[in-house]
Amino acid sequence: MAKCSHCNAPLPDGSVLCVYCGDRNDIDLAGIHYYTTHESDTPRICPRCDIRLKTLDLKLNGTFLIERCVQCLGLFFDPGELEALLEATVSNVFLIDRKGLDSINLRRQADQYPIAYIKCPVCTQYMYRVNFGTRSGVIIDRCKAHGVWLDGGELRHLMEWMKLGGKLLDQERQEQIRKEELKRESEQREKLAKIQVEPSPFGSFGDPLRQSDPDLFDIIHKALRLFTR
Ligand SMILES: [Zn+2]
Ligand SMILES: [Zn+2]
Ligand SMILES: [Zn+2]
Repeated sequence: MAKCSHCNAPLPDGSVLCVYCGDRNDIDLAGIHYYTTHESDTPRICPRCDIRLKTLDLKLNGTFLIERCVQCLGLFFDPGELEALLEATVSNVFLIDRKGLDSINLRRQADQYPIAYIKCPVCTQYMYRVNFGTRSGVIIDRCKAHGVWLDGGELRHLMEWMKLGGKLLDQERQEQIRKEELKRESEQREKLAKIQVEPSPFGSFGDPLRQSDPDLFDIIHKALRLFTR
């Protein structure tokens, strides 16, 4: 468990905010050697603090730029970058630790911010709130065009989730959903097939008989006409 660098109190899981002294701790990028580069050319604005974000180069597989707010320690990732960062920093996970996943979410502090829509740092349109993965406990804010925002501490929580097999659990769940869909589709097809082979109300006067025995068909047909005249 991470500790507050100011008062040494244990930090709640997935939170940068110390509940004892109110200090914010830079836990998300601990262990990643990052370099502050510059303010981005096009200003990107923190949706929490309304100040410009700073660009960091994480130097993962070459240049890897993300944006961070120096005040609230929130992070902004271009589309696909968050997933790439998680892949690059957490690997060799082959088991799903279900108990572990339960416990990191139980220990996690309730959201630091009231539930509300926040604006994309790039286009300032309100972002969607999306659950990240199965049982990650993290709701990310996403702009389809520009990327995702993580509040301080959420990246660390997602890394924990990955280490405990959260991504495997997510794949398992996706697989299950796909299977259920396939099953539903094939049931639907079976139903349709049944409807098509059901005899028509005109029964044996229909086409199958005509194809197999035209004479018989004509005889019955004529008889029927006599009968109904
Ligand atoms: Zn503290
Ligand atoms: Zn901020
Ligand atoms: Zn946007």
